[in-house]
Amino acid sequence: MMPNYAPAPIVPVLGRGSRVWDQAGREYIDLAGGIAVNVLGHAHPELVEVLHDQAQRLWHLSNAYTNEPALDLARKLVDLTFADRVFFSNSGGEANEAALKLARRYAHDRHGPDKAEIIAFDQAFHGRTLFTVTVGGQPKYSDGFGPKPGDITHVPFNDADALGDAMSDRVCAVMIEPIQGEGGLIAADPAFLQRARALCDAHEALLIFDEIQSGMGRTGDLYAYQGYGVTPDILTTAKGLGGGFPVAATLTTEEIASCFVVGTHGSTFGGNPLATAVAGRVLDIVSRPEFLDAVKAKADEAFTRLRALAADTGAFSDVRGKGLWIGCEIDASTGWGSKELTDRVLEYGAMTLKAGPDVLRLAPALNIEDDELATGLDRVEQAVRSLVA
Ligand code: PLP
Repeated sequence: MMPNYAPAPIVPVLGRGSRVWDQAGREYIDLAGGIAVNVLGHAHPELVEVLHDQAQRLWHLSNAYTNEPALDLARKLVDLTFADRVFFSNSGGEANEAALKLARRYAHDRHGPDKAEIIAFDQAFHGRTLFTVTVGGQPKYSDGFGPKPGDITHVPFNDADALGDAMSDRVCAVMIEPIQGEGGLIAADPAFLQRARALCDAHEALLIFDEIQSGMGRTGDLYAYQGYGVTPDILTTAKGLGGGFPVAATLTTEEIASCFVVGTHGSTFGGNPLATAVAGRVLDIVSRPEFLDAVKAKADEAFTRLRALAADTGAFSDVRGKGLWIGCEIDASTGWGSKELTDRVLEYGAMTLKAGPDVLRLAPALNIEDDELATGLDRVEQAVRSLVA
């Protein structure tokens, strides 16, 4: 494979719940959820069953035909959110690409070609296509690939005045992660999102929420916007949607969707029956109120332990996030970064994630068992203490 990844030295071969085993039979607790994806852990029996069942019926017929699992998933997403219409694709980057094209097309059709500016935020992450990487606010991911798509402006995240100064009637969309994931687990202030909503309304721009990482119960709400009480015009969802099976969706209103007329956009695999059958079952499970309540309870436990560890060792200057999505900012005095810490945690038998150079990120399965969570956090603690010592 090309050298664009730096895989860990171990090769996982089996996963059950929140436990994973490598080729040597060594066990790990998965506190990463893949990469904030496996919301129901590994090999969840209901997902295995639905995938197996669908695999025996129908895999692919292209979007020249619709299919029952896709219709069913679209209906569920519409019933559970603000949206009236859904476009299916296969990854977060594609869902965002569709959202951005939709916003541009809507503005073009309603207001003319000059209304094309997109406002996005420093440190944002929206995917790896050339458009989404340019809208993302991390030049290290977009530099060096030739001419970038134009008319994209970045302002500091959570700075409502900067957003206000940047807004004009030329803006067609403002794209926000309600909680920046890759950027270091930075939550939007409620007042910032409210102001963004008001500014979009005043300038007839569309508010796009990228909920690819924050959605599907990660924060304890099905979608983070529901906890904030600020409703976007377009929402993107992927990662947890398929519980590990690749699937993504772009959600919007009837009015906005109406400009995606036949032929304007498409995807060979988007909305295929295997992916949508699995996602339908994931959504059934994750959207139950008692499931989301349990996420909050598990999160309280994890936050309490990690904050105690921070107070005791001084390793973390901040432990932040929402739900089972936790960022531990490594104190500068330690001299270590997130790579060093995630490597050490793996040696101690737990999988975790980085969120930038100095934030350790946890995004475990939302149904992680209490004993798995406790054991995983024990291992994180042992790793931290071994570095502090
Ligand atoms: N948007 C956000 C907020 C993400 O966190 C990610 C992935 O980390 C993406 C978009 C891109 O998703 P994918 O890697 O599935 O294209």
